[in-house]
Amino acid sequence: MTTIHNLGFPRIGAQRELKFALESYWKGASPLGALEALGAQLRQRHWQQQAGLDLVPVGDFSFYDQVLDTSFLLGHLPQRVQGLPGDALDNYFRVARGRSAPAAEGAGGPAAGVAAGEMTKWFDTNYHYIVPEFTAATTFRLDASRLLAQLAEAKAQGVPAKPVIIGPVTYLSIGKSKDGSSRLALLERLLPAYAELLELLAAQGVEWVQIDEPVLVTELDAQWQHAFNTAYHHLKTARVKILLATYFGQLQDNAYLAANLPVAGLHVDAVNDRAGVLPLLNLLPAHKVLSLGVINGRNIWKTDLAAVLDWVEPLAQRLGDRLWLAPSCSLLHVPVDLASERQMDAEVRSWLAFALQKLEELRVLGRALREGRGAVAAELQANQAALAARRASRRVHNPAVQAAVQGITARQGQRASGYAQRAPRQAAVLDLPAYPTTTIGSFPQTAEIRQARSDYKAGRLDEAGYQALMRAEIERSVREQERLGLDVLVHGEAERNDMVEYFGEQLEGYAFSQFGWVQSYGSRCVKPPILFGDVRRPRAMTVDWIAYAQALTTKPMKGMLTGPVTLLNWSFVRDDQPRAASCRQLALAIREEVLDLERAGVKVIQIDEAALREGLPLRRSQWADYLGWAVESFRIAANGVRDETQIHTHMCYSEFNDIIASIADMDADVITIETARSDMELLDAFESFDYPNQIGPGVYDIHSPNIPAQDRMVQLMKKAAERVPAERLWVNPDCGLKTRQWAEVIPALGNMVAAARALRAQA
Ligand code: GLN
Ligand code: ZN
Repeated sequence: MTTIHNLGFPRIGAQRELKFALESYWKGASPLGALEALGAQLRQRHWQQQAGLDLVPVGDFSFYDQVLDTSFLLGHLPQRVQGLPGDALDNYFRVARGRSAPAAEGAGGPAAGVAAGEMTKWFDTNYHYIVPEFTAATTFRLDASRLLAQLAEAKAQGVPAKPVIIGPVTYLSIGKSKDGSSRLALLERLLPAYAELLELLAAQGVEWVQIDEPVLVTELDAQWQHAFNTAYHHLKTARVKILLATYFGQLQDNAYLAANLPVAGLHVDAVNDRAGVLPLLNLLPAHKVLSLGVINGRNIWKTDLAAVLDWVEPLAQRLGDRLWLAPSCSLLHVPVDLASERQMDAEVRSWLAFALQKLEELRVLGRALREGRGAVAAELQANQAALAARRASRRVHNPAVQAAVQGITARQGQRASGYAQRAPRQAAVLDLPAYPTTTIGSFPQTAEIRQARSDYKAGRLDEAGYQALMRAEIERSVREQERLGLDVLVHGEAERNDMVEYFGEQLEGYAFSQFGWVQSYGSRCVKPPILFGDVRRPRAMTVDWIAYAQALTTKPMKGMLTGPVTLLNWSFVRDDQPRAASCRQLALAIREEVLDLERAGVKVIQIDEAALREGLPLRRSQWADYLGWAVESFRIAANGVRDETQIHTHMCYSEFNDIIASIADMDADVITIETARSDMELLDAFESFDYPNQIGPGVYDIHSPNIPAQDRMVQLMKKAAERVPAERLWVNPDCGLKTRQWAEVIPALGNMVAAARALRAQA
């Protein structure tokens, strides 16, 4: 009999309950007990929602991030937070955010000295984790109290629990050495903690433990491959069965290694790597369980259940009990429940499945395998009907859009002149000082803004009333920026709920959910739009707002757009055509907007490509193809403007040492990037590669509520000036300010402008 199981469940709650509870606790508005209680309630609900599965994950819940949980589980916290007062969770939040809750941090308390942990993207997802920090002196000491408590909770509720942990090799590989020492050298010290953990779990009667090693779908050198052997041989005497879970891609060269590690079972992503499954079966020892991830945990489309069954039934014959079925990866990356979507376009909705619906698909597959397809005939028929309707829908296919993409020429992606000719022309128009200051686009999304938006959406506020409120916010932002003395202003993005959704809502081919939230980091969630059809821009999307903002000031106002690659990478995209094809359609739509802004007199246009890097395939061998079409798409969107118009782009969390040539190839006049948290390390790329255009290395970490000091920002800029000629440097925060409050933003930007002035004075 086929076992059905789940790898992980979204923890934020169908109504984002966890987000609100966290933020309330951090504000000091509710006690820790309330947060803990909400956590328990969510876990219970989520376990109930997974009823009927043979194994249910435990330990996938987290108050912030599962990687940070792992660091605490392994007793591995940065030195700077060790021994501080407060509950363990307070320390946990200190590492995550640079501070705990205000109530726990008295004046002059530890907050001042604690830097937030660096965050980066979890593989190729839009989920961010807190990067473990290693040095040669790193030690580990198991503290399984939280995991064991959750396991006890699950057992008390009758949950068929399968604890889930991040594996030792992946844990080391996604961390960062702070002193240049080898992370792998720590493996020997790390493994006893894992062995001890597995013993504790065995003592609790656990049969299966899921150990996630997604790093197995990336290219591993011999040392890292060897680490897998070392690790799992060390753990093979544990009295639990290990299900080694890989996901997000293909095992390729690591297939032999993965198949032969001394564990009881292997989970593979059969959505991304169906072709790898049969060869893998030939490698897999005859006693091992093979878990196939057959339901896509990364998108929101219904699974073609009949097609899965056609493929899986013979495997079930062959493997019997050894075949397990699951989603391809944790469902962390999809929204919780389609049933909440009462307002969604009914046609599109009928094509979709969120986490709960995906689990239902899994149950149907399980029953079909156990009892025969006849037992689920109605479900299978409904599934086929929905898929057929989607394939045939006229809303999906627009011949005019397809023709426009066919007609794209190389000329459309090229500026009239090179940077060297453009730069002086732009300087003449803009008349900026050395070290010009700017911000990345958004200003605080205040409670009033959010209120106005929800009133407007609910019909309590009419169009004119909404416009007036947004214009007032824009004016406020402009006045604050003038008072602060910033050089290139932004309108503040008050009217935007989200940098992708805002554009998606105005483009044909996109649909929206109301509750389709996915965790991005900590309490921050995003609601990716659903790109279901060919993309068309029926009318200008931003021109009125930007023109209004420009009319308020004599300083240059940046037009603010989201680029095609980011629109693509932060949406749930079509699975019925290549990503590149969808991206080119988006590029043409944004190009029209850029040209409209220019016609409206906007002299600086920023096209955010925050997500360019995260679209990189996990395997380097596939990078060139992606970068080829991604860069081309940006160029089509951006490069139709006159020499005098300055194009900016922005990227967050982009470590781009390895893609710097492609970034340069985008040919933006100015690029602003994230660097504050990593101490200008990202600028290393610019040492060996002579980046030809202007660059604004972020000097202010907007993800932390800490106010950056002027001196620190001056220092960071001096560090930057060692690598990039000062006349090509800009001074700016490292991302948008929407998640901050004005009370933080004003002093922080005040310090930033003062830093720029100090630099000018010293020049
Ligand atoms: N312009 C956007 C903002 O400032 C950019 C956000 C981002 O890069 N994630 O909010
Ligand atoms: Zn950013």
